[in-house]
Formats: sequence, structure tokens, C-alpha cells
Amino acid sequence: MTPMEDDDGQPAYYAARSTLAARYGHLVLKFTHAYLSDSGQHEASWIGGAARADTEHELLALVRAAMGDCGGDGHLWVTEDIKRDPSDSDNALIIQRLKCPDCPQQERVITLYHPQPTPAEASQERASAAMETDSGKPAGPSG
Ligand SMILES: [Zn+2]
Repeated sequence: MTPMEDDDGQPAYYAARSTLAARYGHLVLKFTHAYLSDSGQHEASWIGGAARADTEHELLALVRAAMGDCGGDGHLWVTEDIKRDPSDSDNALIIQRLKCPDCPQQERVITLYHPQPTPAEASQERASAAMETDSGKPAGPSG
């Protein structure tokens, strides 16, 4: 049996850190250890914000607070829809909804540089291509 390696809190910290980095990857969330940071404190930075603290635990708490993240395992962002950014056709908008038993429902929109067709667009293109080859029948439902 493998003993739990959380005597000094390090593995737990790194697990929590990588969870946050994955959850907020679209914000380019990065952590810098106190050994490497200019301030000599533990630092985190992301698009639109930054935090620093004397301890790793404190830093995680600050980042979670900034993100509105309760830190629970059930704090999951589920993709609801992907659509084309109306203001920039090279971007896709990813609409996600928070499904968390401990947090109020909320929505976020991630802008992603994605000039290729989204899955929905690709299937629409396939559908319209199929419709064109099938020109004998009326296109689309009659309204
Ligand atoms: Zn939550």
C-alpha cells in the first residue's frame, strides 16, 4: 500500500495548482515559485490579474477567490455551445456553464483563436453540401 504523500503538503499543492491551471488555462494562469519570482513571494499571474503570497496555500486561496472558485472537485465548467465570434470571424466563442454544488450557477465565454470550422459549423457544411447534391427535393423544412 502506498502511503499518502502529503506530509509537507507539496503533492497536494501541486495537484491543486495543476487543477487550477487547467481550469483557467484560457486565462494563461501561471504559477511562479518563490525561489524564481522577482518578489521573493509565491506568485500567480493570468490575463487580467495577478496575486502573490508568502505561502503556497495562501496563494491558492487568493487565486481561487479571484476566479470565484470554491476549490471543490465538483467545480466544473461544462461546455454548452461553441459559436463564431460575430466581431471577429477568426475567433470561436466557447460558452461554458458552471456546474458546482457549492457555487451559484454562472456562465463564462472563452474567446479562442480558431479560424477552422467549429464542430457545429463542420456538420452544418456537411448538411448543406448534402442538400445541394440532393437538388430534386425542396431544401429545408417548409415554414
Ligand atoms: Zn464551486
